Amino acid sequence: MILTVTLNTALDITYRVRALRPHASHRVTEVTERPGGKGLNVARVLAALGHRVTATGFAGGRTGRSVQDQLAGISEVVDALVPVAGATRRTIAVVDETTGDTTQLNEPGPEIAPAEWSAFLEVYGDLVSSAAAVALCGSLPPGVPVGAYAQLVRTARSAGVPVLLDTSGEPLRRGVAARPDVVKPNADELAELTGSYEPLQATRDARRRGAHAVVASLGAEGLLAVNAEGRWRAAPPRRIQGNPTGAGDSAVAGLLSGLVDLLPWPARLARAVAVSAASVLAPAAGEFDRRVYEELLERVIVTPHNAAA
Ligand code: ATP
Ligand code: MG
Ligand code: MG
Repeated sequence: MILTVTLNTALDITYRVRALRPHASHRVTEVTERPGGKGLNVARVLAALGHRVTATGFAGGRTGRSVQDQLAGISEVVDALVPVAGATRRTIAVVDETTGDTTQLNEPGPEIAPAEWSAFLEVYGDLVSSAAAVALCGSLPPGVPVGAYAQLVRTARSAGVPVLLDTSGEPLRRGVAARPDVVKPNADELAELTGSYEPLQATRDARRRGAHAVVASLGAEGLLAVNAEGRWRAAPPRRIQGNPTGAGDSAVAGLLSGLVDLLPWPARLARAVAVSAASVLAPAAGEFDRRVYEELLERVIVTPHNAAA
């Protein structure tokens, strides 16, 4: 199984309205609720790709129960969320059906108590040993130490289990120094880490900081990957209009899927680009249409990238 870690789980609520106007009252045409938080998006995409997943992290309160009820409906996903006293946060997206634009409101999430963090570490330590790979995704909730991901990376590495890190800011900086197998920053996260928006220079810098492989996601331009074996660009066949929220999480799922299926790097990158581009066309994060994915997979272009060092 693949282990996903979502410390900042959420209940994602989406309202659709015909047209969003300030100071106006709106009739909601549709409302949906889904498990959210980056690692749970990854878990849902992995499940749809046919992998068995164990999802850990935190869940609490009525909102946490809604998240867990929905996870129970996905047969490939085992729920290993650790209970907390505070309520799981809600994220609220309001979609304007006329423009397709989304307005997003994100609650900060509950404070995690030291005893809750210790309980999580115990669960994580047990699960890592039976995992084929681990994904550490998203921001840290209040109360969790800033070096949390560095610690989780070290645990996975000493168990000999490949670990992928997708976060930002100081947790990313410290996590990279703990030598994860893969990091998947987007352009902004990479620039914050390295001080450079020049993707090739920045990915190389991120490797020097400790990551074995750096896979930078560059929105509609696809992925730039650098590891000890080489350097590749993987690009979708075209820029897709749609909902890019969670595209990075789908890319992470594609990379892990290719890793546990032992695909060579170019094929892993192609899978990651195809599933992430397909998810841009889907209405919600963590979802994609299988046929669209398969069509895109045939048309993703992966090229070795051999610019001078
Ligand atoms: P998030 O954190 O919201 O999930 P991100 O900012 O980490 O996303 P992006 O770089 O925006 O990640 O997107 C991840 C991948 O999704 C890209 O590498 C690309 O393969 C695909 N993608 C994103 N936007 C588009 C687009 N407009 N058209 C085609 N593919 C896209
Ligand atoms: Mg983005
Ligand atoms: Mg991201």
